[in-house]
Amino acid sequence: MPPAPSQLAYIPFVSVENMMRLVHSFGIEKLLLELTDAVEADYRRWDLFEKTPRLASHSQEGVIELMPTSDGEAFSFKYVNGHPSNTAKGYQTVTAFGLLARVDTGYPLMLSEMTLLTALRTAATSAMAARYLAPKDSKVMAMIGNGAQAEFQALGMKAVIGIEEVRLYDVDPKATEKAAKNLRDSGLRVVACSTSQEAIQGAHIITTCTADKAYATILTDNMVGPGVHINAIGGDCPGKTELHKDILSRADTFVEFEPQTRIEGEIQQMDADYPVTEFWRVLSGDAEGRNDARQITLFDSVGFAIEDFSALRYIHAKLKGTDFFQQIDILADPDDPRDLYGMLQRAAA
Ligand code: NAD
Repeated sequence: MPPAPSQLAYIPFVSVENMMRLVHSFGIEKLLLELTDAVEADYRRWDLFEKTPRLASHSQEGVIELMPTSDGEAFSFKYVNGHPSNTAKGYQTVTAFGLLARVDTGYPLMLSEMTLLTALRTAATSAMAARYLAPKDSKVMAMIGNGAQAEFQALGMKAVIGIEEVRLYDVDPKATEKAAKNLRDSGLRVVACSTSQEAIQGAHIITTCTADKAYATILTDNMVGPGVHINAIGGDCPGKTELHKDILSRADTFVEFEPQTRIEGEIQQMDADYPVTEFWRVLSGDAEGRNDARQITLFDSVGFAIEDFSALRYIHAKLKGTDFFQQIDILADPDDPRDLYGMLQRAAA
């Protein structure tokens, strides 16, 4: 016989299926816009958060990471992997799930899938940075790497920045074909390109989102003209970068959390004194974002725990009054808190 409901502490669980229902019910562009505001609001509270580089377990094939943070009231962590060779086996490069909890009792508040949510929050974070770093009136975006994240990135830039054209390139033409098809009715002008040089033509924003466990050179220095914003999100692990280091020498580089990005970002190629600006300082007014039309700005993004915290809290708030979740009894919570064994015994009776 199952234990009486009073002996269980139910919490909402957002499955992949329910996350998809939630996204469709709100509309993906509206959700990306709201999520961008939610991430930005938390970046403006930067000092309140506990911050640590993520805990990474590396293997030859990839990495498994835990990403925790807390603002003193709520705590969250995400489990996420990054395995570039996975797609060849029919698995995804990145999958994730995460938990939001109360700090005062330590009790969990929500468990959620985060593979879709990571794609959404990464698009929202890219758009947040572009708001302050991209050229004014950016209309054209190059999207290099047309895998799982690509369409989310394009739609985030459309919803938040007002991008009208996306120029797609991937070493695998099938990936470009897939992204072009998925974005067909998005309202974006979609141009499938056969080289990265072609993709960046006329682009105000260049997003690199490729997956290869290597010091890759997706962009060389001569490809990057003055005035562009580079949103480099694919290089996010030691030994995994996308840009030639000469680009970094010419760019003003913005990062999420410097101690983590020094290990994982494009700047792992540079000396330890290479200057970077943590992005929150632009929001607080301590540092300038784009200050010149000819400036090359680089958002060297690796993904930071606060973005997952914002995304989990945003989804948690959205659940109220909906059925986009199941209740799960993940926590044993006996009526007499010290009688855990008694609860087990009564369940056998
Ligand atoms: P994915 O495997 O689905 O797609 C990657 C694509 O890159 C593939 O289509 C592949 O063909 C293409 N590619 C590989 N080498 C290329 C090259 N030299 N030129 C052009 N295209 C190339 O992976 P995904 O889920 O889209 O993630 C992409 C990368 O972004 C991963 O490295 C992942 O770790 C990273 N990522 C970062 C963040 C962040 O917050 N910064 C968040 C999510 C994912």
